[in-house]
Amino acid sequence: MGLDAMVFCDCVEKGRLRVPHPYPRSLYIASNGSPEIRSKDPLKVDEHDKWMNLPPCKHEQMLLPAGYSGSATHISHLHETLSGVLRKRACPVLLGKVLYSGTHCGDHLTVRDVRRLSNELDQLKEALPSVTALSGEDAQEIALVIKELRRLVKTALKVNKPIAF
Ligand SMILES: [Zn+2]
Repeated sequence: MGLDAMVFCDCVEKGRLRVPHPYPRSLYIASNGSPEIRSKDPLKVDEHDKWMNLPPCKHEQMLLPAGYSGSATHISHLHETLSGVLRKRACPVLLGKVLYSGTHCGDHLTVRDVRRLSNELDQLKEALPSVTALSGEDAQEIALVIKELRRLVKTALKVNKPIAF
C-alpha cells in the first residue's frame, strides 16, 4: 500500500465517448471524478466496469496520463523529510492530505484542494534553497516529487477535476 494519485478524464462530461454507456441514465460522476453507475444490480455494475475497461474513450482506464505513485515507505520518508524542512502549517494539503503515511484508498482532493496544493507546490519551489540543504538524495527525491505533483495538479486543473487516490 502507498500512494496512487490519478485524475480521471472528462470524456463523459464532454460527450467524447466512442462507445456509449450501457445505462447512460444511471451513469454519474462520483466526487473523486470517476464515472460510476447508480445501481446495485451486480450485472449492471459488471457491465459498467467492462465498459470502463474498454475503454470507451482514448484514455486507458479513463485516466489522464499524469498519475503519481509512491510506496508507503517512500511517502512516509518524504513526509518526514519535508516536515523537518517546512513548518507543518506551511503545506497543509501536501502534508496532511497527500503525503501522509496512512492508506489513501478511496479518498480524493476536491478541485479547491487541488488549487491549494498548487499554491503550496509553488511556495515549496521557492523554498527549495532550504530544501537543497538536505542530503543529495533527499533533495533529489523532493525535487522529483514536486515536479510530478505539479504535473498532476496541472492536469487536474486543466480539466477542472479532482485528484483521486
Ligand atoms: Zn477519456
